[in-house]
Amino acid sequence: MSRAIYPGSFDPITNGHASILKSGLVAFDEIVVAVLDNERKRPLFSVNERIEMIRETVKEIGADPKRIEVDSFGGLLVDYCRRKQVRVVLRGLRAVADFEYELQMANMNRHLNEEIETVFIMANDAYFYVASNLVKEARRLGGDVSGLVPEAVARRLDERFGPRVSDESAPSSDG
Ligand code: ADP
Repeated sequence: MSRAIYPGSFDPITNGHASILKSGLVAFDEIVVAVLDNERKRPLFSVNERIEMIRETVKEIGADPKRIEVDSFGGLLVDYCRRKQVRVVLRGLRAVADFEYELQMANMNRHLNEEIETVFIMANDAYFYVASNLVKEARRLGGDVSGLVPEAVARRLDERFGPRVSDESAPSSDG
């Protein structure tokens, strides 16, 4: 059975991540979505919240939950791969800007453990410019990010940041 680990911050998961996950399921029997537990990145959402949103997203996209494990890890990715006994790391590639960083990471991981292979899937062009950080910033400033994130994430962002400016000024249904 083919398995891959899809690691990332997922703070929060976006439709871009979700599309990589869907494509990944074409290539692999099972995918472990591994949330990086790294406080140094000053995440907006806790690891548990990020895991919950990923699980809800798996339901939303209609993927088979038996084929997707959602987990978290700290420390080196290659050590996590060894613990899970998985040799393939799945990453998504967006614009050229991702390329250099991803190449560095893949090479570093290969240096640390030459048995680990990194596989890239091209981003869906609809989500080429979608990044968790941009989504958070846009929503924080009151922008509409629906369509870029799963419903479960949009709800959490609403809880976190309150109503959007345009929502507040919209006439309420009871006049
Ligand atoms: P990290 O902090 O490790 O970069 P992210 O959660 O930002 O974690 O991203 C995890 C992976 O998903 C990375 O390989 C990244 O390139 C990919 N990714 C992020 N956003 C998109 C997107 N919109 N389309 C395709 N891949 C994406």
